[in-house]
Amino acid sequence: MKIFSCQNCRNPLYFENTVCLVCGSQVGYLEETFSLVNLTQAHSGFSLGTNNGKFYRYCQNAQYDACNWLVDMSSSSTFCTACSLNKTIPSLEIEKNLTEWRKIEIAKHRLVYALLRFGLPVVDKDWAPDEGLAFNFLSDTSHGNNNAPVRTGHLNGLITINIAEADSVHREYMRKQMAEPYRTLIGHFRHEVGHYYWERLIRNNFQEEQNFRAVFGDERADYGQALEKHYAQGAPKNWNYNYISAYAASHPWEDWAETWAHYLHLIDMLETAFYFGIKIGDDFGNTAPIKMEAVFDPYTQPDFEAIIESFLPLTFALNSLNRSMGQPDIYPFVIPDNVIGKLRYVHQLLHKK
Ligand SMILES: [Zn+2]
Ligand SMILES: [Zn+2]
Ligand SMILES: [Zn+2]
Repeated sequence: MKIFSCQNCRNPLYFENTVCLVCGSQVGYLEETFSLVNLTQAHSGFSLGTNNGKFYRYCQNAQYDACNWLVDMSSSSTFCTACSLNKTIPSLEIEKNLTEWRKIEIAKHRLVYALLRFGLPVVDKDWAPDEGLAFNFLSDTSHGNNNAPVRTGHLNGLITINIAEADSVHREYMRKQMAEPYRTLIGHFRHEVGHYYWERLIRNNFQEEQNFRAVFGDERADYGQALEKHYAQGAPKNWNYNYISAYAASHPWEDWAETWAHYLHLIDMLETAFYFGIKIGDDFGNTAPIKMEAVFDPYTQPDFEAIIESFLPLTFALNSLNRSMGQPDIYPFVIPDNVIGKLRYVHQLLHKK
């Protein structure tokens, strides 16, 4: 993610800020320019310092501290692009739901930022029932009385997230249950939206389906049976030579979603590194230098090799920093050569559009 700065005092700002903590200026996120902008009260809304002649208000979810995106006052919607995708949110009368939903919104806004940076279609399912995208944020107690837990997943453009995943204790419990090295809200979003874009970018595109199968295998293998087998027997031995995670080995669709999620992980990390101008030197005297300099915006970098060559040293350095603080590795994965090929496919597909 970009590091933003206050247009008034140049203080660095996070993507989620609504106020500059140094000079007190009110700020909001402007989708058209992917930037945080300083706001001036005008015409029962705000004008921008850049004076583009338009007036804005905050997205309706700003009242819950769940969004800082701006909406053009001439727009018919009171929600921003990211929030208009919400189909169901949990009941906010329960305080815990509000706390958890806010964390979910942080992850979702970061996801939508990335999708828009790639120029991917982000279309509200209300407008395009067949092709659109929507989110259901549900709690186990809110969706009827059949006691079946809410399953996080994707179906025809509708992504469901169990809001309990926003609770760090629950999430860590699930992570251990599922024997995963990593489990986060942003990880869930990136994975599930991968399934959605598989349908948008690959399904029913004859040539792309062929390209996909050459890299990931034939997704026409029975999905239900494949998952059943995965949960009964686990991943095949040596899965780590071919897949980024054990779960990715279950079926080509899951392999795709896992790989897609990792591609978004590495782009976000590299964008952050770029805005900080991170440089990692090589003084190890080994044959494979651990060296990178974040000199490009990865969203607009057409050269995949430049991306992967920067990413690997970056994770090595960041994992080492985390270990200095006794924290688990920030990127607890090893990317085998076969997965680099899959990441390259995701990259090429995103740059084809
Ligand atoms: Zn400021
Ligand atoms: Zn919003
Ligand atoms: Zn999946």
